[in-house]
Amino acid sequence: SGQSEYNLRSPICCIMGHVDTGKTKLLDCIRGTNVQEGEAGGITQQIGATYFPAENIRERTKELKPDANLNVPGLLVIDTPGHESFTNLRSRGSGLCDVAILVVDIMHGLERQTIESLNLLKMRNTNFVIALNKVDRLYGWKVCHNASIVKAMKQQSKDVQFEFRTRLTQVITEFKEQGINTELYYKNKDMGKGTFSIVPTSAISAEGIPDLLLLLVQWTAKTMSERLTYSNIVQCTVLEVKVVEGHGTTIDVILVNGVLHEGDSIVVCGMHGPIVTSIRALLTPFPMKELRVKGSYEHHREIKASQGIKINAQGLEHAIAGTSLYIVGPDDDVEDIKEAAMEDMRSVMSRVDKCGEGVYVQASTLGSLEALLEFLKTPEVSIPVSGIGIGNVHKKDVMKASVMLEKRKEYATILAFDVRATQEAQELADEVGVKIYTADIIYHLFDQFKAYIDNLKE
Ligand code: GDP
Ligand code: MG
Repeated sequence: SGQSEYNLRSPICCIMGHVDTGKTKLLDCIRGTNVQEGEAGGITQQIGATYFPAENIRERTKELKPDANLNVPGLLVIDTPGHESFTNLRSRGSGLCDVAILVVDIMHGLERQTIESLNLLKMRNTNFVIALNKVDRLYGWKVCHNASIVKAMKQQSKDVQFEFRTRLTQVITEFKEQGINTELYYKNKDMGKGTFSIVPTSAISAEGIPDLLLLLVQWTAKTMSERLTYSNIVQCTVLEVKVVEGHGTTIDVILVNGVLHEGDSIVVCGMHGPIVTSIRALLTPFPMKELRVKGSYEHHREIKASQGIKINAQGLEHAIAGTSLYIVGPDDDVEDIKEAAMEDMRSVMSRVDKCGEGVYVQASTLGSLEALLEFLKTPEVSIPVSGIGIGNVHKKDVMKASVMLEKRKEYATILAFDVRATQEAQELADEVGVKIYTADIIYHLFDQFKAYIDNLKE
């Protein structure tokens, strides 16, 4: 952690993209560990943050550019299965993720979650680079471990180079169809001004990884120096609320700015009101390990931004992910801070359709609820919402949704994102005729609801 001589903090980077494009593998490759193979069916189940110190990045990129001036202390990379971390890295509706890697499989091109990711990136106005992954799958690819992509490409046969260019052109066209200009990063003269950069990579043999790292760090330091200027005003967001053996309920947070100390009084937004508590332990995984890898944690007296931190404190059971963590300073009025902590939730919760007709929406975190509401509002989708909630679907939610049975039967529906319905809730729903759809990918919810509507029309 710490700061650079220019007083910049580390950029925070999310990895997004369709399932199986290689997000986890890419992170493993950068890190030089193997989380992916330990996962159930290769599916990323949890979220984590990994901090890459500048020295490590310099080591990985020295062949590409030996005297690279990195200017930032490092890079904090977040793994984002199902967009969860990205949507929770928010503060009052704006994004805290400084830059994202959008992973596209060169053999598949743009897929539905790629487009969903693009929409989230647009909604939060977040800059990103595209990792065009799995170049080693091109027929006849000659492996050049950890080589820069230009160097690796020179080693390839004419046929491989031809297939690469054909697929690249196809992907560029597909991005164009989404209204996004893209170009190979080393040809992109317009980076950050409307043309997004593509870095071809392999997460297996690491071609293009030096390029990706160097691009991310140099580009963010150069173009975002204002945004990345370290500030000692604490800016901290709750990524996940988790029960950990021996620690009780903990919160995984990303500290974007400022310093946290053991013993600090904090306020976080809770399901049943503001939670006022104090930091019992500040924990981080050991360097180059990930927050989600089981094992022992390092204790800290204080931690400076940017960092992914696990906080142990009393009373966190009902904390809501996607909300901000506040520090109560010696001169602060705790009532004001409680108010501020809850305001975040109130502003999202107030975004229901005023006409009173619409579906009921339930999500696991404030960040995902916000993303889902945003999605339902888009012209192509346009589904009105009359009520919202956070957490599992309970009987009371079914009761609220059932009000629509009288008005618009099709809206007597609960769209539950990344949460489940309790058994009693499901039974009540079946009894009164409320539909509950659950999914952990936004567009799956939309598909289910649309199929239901189409069915009703017939
Ligand atoms: P995620 O769902 O996006 O996290 O994808 P994973 O990282 O779990 O990768 C999905 C599958 O693709 C796994 O079997 C990986 O081994 C494989 N994979 C990922 N990246 C590459 C790559 O660059 N080249 C090849 N050949 N396979 C890859
Ligand atoms: Mg994964």
